[in-house]
Amino acid sequence: MTSSHPALIAGEPVQASGQVDIQDPSTGEIFASTPDCGPAEVDVAVAAAQQAGRAWRLTAVAERAAALRRIGQLVLDHQDELGRLESRQTGKPLAQGLRDAELTARYFDFYASAIETFSGSTVPLNASNLIYTSWEPHGVTGHITPWNYPMQILARSIAPALAMGNGTVLKPAEEAPLTALRLAGLAVEAGLPTGLFNVVTGLGESAGAALTRHPGIGHISFTGSVEVGRIISTAAAQRVIPVTMELGGKSPNIVFADADLDRAVPVIVNSILQMAGQTCSAGSRLLVQEQIHDEVIDRIAKAFAATEIGPALEDPQLGPLISGPQRERVLSYLEQGRSSGTVVTGGEALNGGRYGDGYFVQPTLIDDVDPAGPLGQDEIFGPVLVASTFKDLDEALALANGTDYGLVAGVWTTHVGTAHRMVRDVMAGQVFVNTYGASGGVELPFGGFKQSGHGREKGAEGLRGFGQLKTGVIAL
Ligand code: NAD
Repeated sequence: MTSSHPALIAGEPVQASGQVDIQDPSTGEIFASTPDCGPAEVDVAVAAAQQAGRAWRLTAVAERAAALRRIGQLVLDHQDELGRLESRQTGKPLAQGLRDAELTARYFDFYASAIETFSGSTVPLNASNLIYTSWEPHGVTGHITPWNYPMQILARSIAPALAMGNGTVLKPAEEAPLTALRLAGLAVEAGLPTGLFNVVTGLGESAGAALTRHPGIGHISFTGSVEVGRIISTAAAQRVIPVTMELGGKSPNIVFADADLDRAVPVIVNSILQMAGQTCSAGSRLLVQEQIHDEVIDRIAKAFAATEIGPALEDPQLGPLISGPQRERVLSYLEQGRSSGTVVTGGEALNGGRYGDGYFVQPTLIDDVDPAGPLGQDEIFGPVLVASTFKDLDEALALANGTDYGLVAGVWTTHVGTAHRMVRDVMAGQVFVNTYGASGGVELPFGGFKQSGHGREKGAEGLRGFGQLKTGVIAL
């Protein structure tokens, strides 16, 4: 039986003429639907956010922070429910769904604290003027999010936007909008003023495009593909409003011959298998120094082959891909791997038995990949690691920087000079040494170089994108 989940606008459930089906990627079953909102629903949502935002921006910081903390607490109180729903709609292993709920709560808590210690400054000019800067909200911020980490990604932009005093309108991904709706309901329960957090569900071309074009939106936070990022940036440029673009990646793990492999291999494996490789910051390229190539490939191949794969709610190590089309896309890259590389392990879809009609693919390691070819350049977005070798640090750097992306990199070395050179010269928003990802890292500023995007979310810096700086000058 499918359940229907209305959009949430001005605190009220709202239906639209069209519906979008929601599928369980572990089984292929359609289990829910949401309205396909369009310009009319977006209009009402933006008007509600504008109206609520007018009082909210003047509400005491302590009161705004308290509301955010109450949302965080309610998310924690409902961790099991939210985690299960996230796991079901995205196909991620249950433990990850539960962890995502915990991190979602942490975002609300973190930005409650961040706004309480955030302030402008005074500017010394001369004795006859008093000059100060202050941060003001944009008014209404639009948030367009993907399906891979729906709760975490909404929280990392909605929490700072609300903290800064904005009203917000969220368009979650059509594949996985259910936790966003539940969370917005919890925000109402937490006493967040009505209209500050609206969720318009539906397709990108309808609800997403209507939100992007709406004249009442003062800033857009977009997380998703480069292709859609370009469409949204173009629309925002027409209206001359700022955007934050959190786009894709082809992030390398770079393993030097002096690396501690016992430490490196499990982290490298997890960095590509987490969420079945459908993570923007997935460690999807392996660059390994020649002399340790065989050993690293062998260790990773063994770990891949031993991976437990299954339906998300059974909490395996690896769940399904999000959808049939996404699986087809990944399989087409595996086909290329057979002709232009060496498939060391994996390479097949999994069907029947435990896998039923779900969208499962084996963890796959493809060696001898041409770094300049599609396997070495494209974001595959599946449990697929592509490997190539390097001779020395300069070649490692050239390969690491040799794609259009620049989101994250992992460096594995025990040499302190190599570590610092790589952090300095790898063109990526985050460079990790002897670790990768830092357990979610709500506190760490995140965002891309090059086509991985611009602007930063997360961390205290993440507040700035959701405000605009004003300079006040008073003649004394
Ligand atoms: P997508 O770009 O297809 O969709 C993202 C969102 O944009 C969805 O809500 C979608 O409905 C909406 N959208 C689509 N067309 C639109 C349009 N014309 N106007 C307005 N909105 C529109 O991305 P996806 O497939 O959901 O997610 C995968 C991509 O997201 C990958 O490239 C991944 O790397 C990226 N991603 C980046 C980050 C990051 O923080 N950098 C995080 C997660 C995912």
